[in-house]
Amino acid sequence: MALHSRVPEDESGVELEINPVYSREKSCVIPRYRLPDSGVLPRTALQVVRDELILDGNARLNLATFVTTWMEPEAEQLMAECSSKNMIDKDEYPQTAELEHRCVNIIGNLWHAPHSEAVGCSTTGSSEACMLGGMALLWRWRARRRAAGKDTARPNLVMGTNVQVCWEKFCRYWDVEPKYVPLVPGRYHLGAAEASAQCDENTIGVVVIMGSTMDGSYEPVADVNAALDALAATPGGPDVPIHVDGASGGFVAPFLQPETEWDFRVPRVASINASGHKYGLVYPGVGWIIWRDEDHLPEDLIFKVNYLGGEMPTFALNFSRPGAQVAAQYYNFLRLGHDGYRRVQQTSQDIALHMSGEIAKLGPFELLSDGSDLPVFAFRLRDDVTGYSVFDISERLRMRGWQVPAYTFPENLTDMAVMRIVIRNGFSMDLANLLLDDLRLQLQVLEHHPQTQMPPELQKKRASFAH
Ligand SMILES: *Cc1c(COP(=O)(O)O)cnc(C)c1O
Repeated sequence: MALHSRVPEDESGVELEINPVYSREKSCVIPRYRLPDSGVLPRTALQVVRDELILDGNARLNLATFVTTWMEPEAEQLMAECSSKNMIDKDEYPQTAELEHRCVNIIGNLWHAPHSEAVGCSTTGSSEACMLGGMALLWRWRARRRAAGKDTARPNLVMGTNVQVCWEKFCRYWDVEPKYVPLVPGRYHLGAAEASAQCDENTIGVVVIMGSTMDGSYEPVADVNAALDALAATPGGPDVPIHVDGASGGFVAPFLQPETEWDFRVPRVASINASGHKYGLVYPGVGWIIWRDEDHLPEDLIFKVNYLGGEMPTFALNFSRPGAQVAAQYYNFLRLGHDGYRRVQQTSQDIALHMSGEIAKLGPFELLSDGSDLPVFAFRLRDDVTGYSVFDISERLRMRGWQVPAYTFPENLTDMAVMRIVIRNGFSMDLANLLLDDLRLQLQVLEHHPQTQMPPELQKKRASFAH
């Protein structure tokens, strides 16, 4: 590491008051990859770490992430106050546990869970929540098979190739065969008929995404439900449940598309997850999973922990976890209410629609989505634009600090390279217009200075970097 303030022997542990960090670059070195022999003053440590972190991108200009990058100062204060609380210590922090319990019920109610007492919990994010949802599907499928005297050797899970990597992990960890429905030109997410065609007696469930990370579009939950109904009605047809991966949409659809039936109003939906740290508007990491009712959460997956001398059921994977995010989630529910969430999400959507509309008008682009599902849209270059690629545009925008990812679609459509913009709370119309100005400028530069064609291996490298 660059030279930094370590206390020289002759100063017997007393650091200079004046500019202790930068004045003694020669005399002190802090090793990067092993524990230093002795420490430094807190202010020095803070300066050293902070300095290094200025190399990170600016989170507010990060249009790649779905994860919250802005919260009110009051929420930040609350999180700082709660940062020493461990979520699992229900006995010591019963009120944090109570806030989690309230959040579970608020979210269950938002998603039309059939009973007033919702069944679910907080997690570190949707990845953990999806793991729990998948496990419940697997356990219940096994129980059904065993009861029918059938073998349980070859479970499978049906989903689009656009699923988030957590579902690939679930399948790998639990030895479940992933049955992927490929994307095709013009259909950039799961199709209902295609999903049900993949189902058989070994299918533990179908994962339907609200909405796809590829382009922000919602997958058709109700249509998948109808197709699975039709399948179940055929002689010997399997009865397949749905898990909705609502990582982003779980906190968008209830406010922006309240009429769309995607949640527990849809009969086959067994469980739903969402990321509190995406459109739940909390800093990372918090996620949520809710099951339709107690029958959908197998007893085997529930463990009891001591709670105020009594017993508290727990089914999350992690043990220790910060309590701050749960308190912040509750803060948001209280602070914004239903109307506040609707207005925040509507503003993001207005900005997304404005931007996608303007980008469509620029000429070289074609929209894959416009931000009318999630406030997220993807676009690509028209086939006749050959002088530069979306990767070039992404890099040039990065020069001004904008992080707009460019990436290729999954198998079957890997030659399709797109850019995606995620609009979140904290990204204003002002910033949107500044980004549009920069985009126009960079397009002019690229049109006058076509980039040399990159070899495909390098293009791939850039694509994975952008992810
Ligand atoms: C982000 C995302 C996940 C993973 O969620 P984390 O909260 O980051 O763990 C899973 N599925 C979808 C559809 C997502 O968008």
